[in-house]
Amino acid sequence: MKLLIKNGRLVDPAAGVDRAMDLLIESGRVKEIARAIRKSPGLSLIDASGMVVAPGFIDMHVHLREPGQENKESIASGARAAVRGGFTSVACMANTEPVNDNRSVTESIIARARQVGLANIFPIAAVTRGQLGENLVEMADLIEGGAVAFSDDGHCVMKADVIRKALEYARMLDVPIIEHPEDHSISAEGQVNEGFISYKYGLRGILKAAEEVIVARDLILQERIRSKLHLTHVSTAGSVALIRNARQAKTPVSADATPHHLLLNEERVQTYDTVYKVKPPLRTEADRLELIRGLQDGTIDCIASDHAPHTRHRHGDVVPGDLRPPGAREADHDQPPGRAVFHQSRPRPGPEGPRPRQDGFAGRPDHPGPQEALQDRGGGLPLQGQQLPVPGLGGAGRSRLHHRQRQFGL
Ligand SMILES: [Zn+2]
Ligand SMILES: [Zn+2]
Repeated sequence: MKLLIKNGRLVDPAAGVDRAMDLLIESGRVKEIARAIRKSPGLSLIDASGMVVAPGFIDMHVHLREPGQENKESIASGARAAVRGGFTSVACMANTEPVNDNRSVTESIIARARQVGLANIFPIAAVTRGQLGENLVEMADLIEGGAVAFSDDGHCVMKADVIRKALEYARMLDVPIIEHPEDHSISAEGQVNEGFISYKYGLRGILKAAEEVIVARDLILQERIRSKLHLTHVSTAGSVALIRNARQAKTPVSADATPHHLLLNEERVQTYDTVYKVKPPLRTEADRLELIRGLQDGTIDCIASDHAPHTRHRHGDVVPGDLRPPGAREADHDQPPGRAVFHQSRPRPGPEGPRPRQDGFAGRPDHPGPQEALQDRGGGLPLQGQQLPVPGLGGAGRSRLHHRQRQFGL
């Protein structure tokens, strides 16, 4: 089948392309890219006027909840949400029920993803059995089953000795360990960032140190082990500084931040809308600005959504904030900022020009899109209604898209 996508604004950071181009696709592969490709008989045509045409977005941190919590999200609904937003590949975390800590769960996720046939779904397996933080999983077996990385996300690997061993095995097996940096003994029952706002409203706070002590610990271990360590959803200026220093000292580490931490600050919690209850909590404006600086200077490699749906009755429309589990649903597609999540983890060879391409995206990044996409299962949409803050994509003038080619091993 031949498909011609005409009049779109082609954005391909890996090739340094950002201009009006047509695209000819044959049998699912990009055959030709040119200023103007003539329509010929037998071609299906998409008029992409006013749209961005881009390689498929990749989200390396989502929670699809299947197996076990399909009332919150399923592989099918999560994949549908992903592709609606232009995400053609997502990596899903292991805190399912049962936990993805053995090969049969990994294989069942892959099989289900194939059946659904929408986005590419890459399972991330747990670091420890049951995500209990004690015994390492059978990493080699899980990799054979299709796991692309290891993370106890949802929890931090609290014991330094356990994360040390995990990093050592990961080095041997050449796979990434993704750390959710949170010292649970410090964050405890906290709800929001600890500081002026938590004091003012009498909310239990989470110190920035809860994150930073784990970032520091992992970086110290990593300095010697030199495995593949990725720190996810970093939220504080202190974490950015620690990672920046580590990079300068040539310690191998990568990191991501979420759209909500890049766009919102703790002042949102004054609305008492529990949609702003996320983990790590929204931080101060100074932290937010430092995260953006980190993204610009390459300390933070990419944006990842931490798409983590909960069912509506648990998510806070009707329950007090303290009872609501933290979580946001950023990968959801038709929230414009979700479309700013623009990262390609696989460097592709060759300069500009026609290259085989598996998947791509055409859409209006500043357009809210059909509401049906918002009708899925959770309630937490902290960025709903927010305008896209990337001028180059939002149509408000031109800007260079920040893009770095760095492998996460996904
Ligand atoms: Zn997490
Ligand atoms: Zn997560």
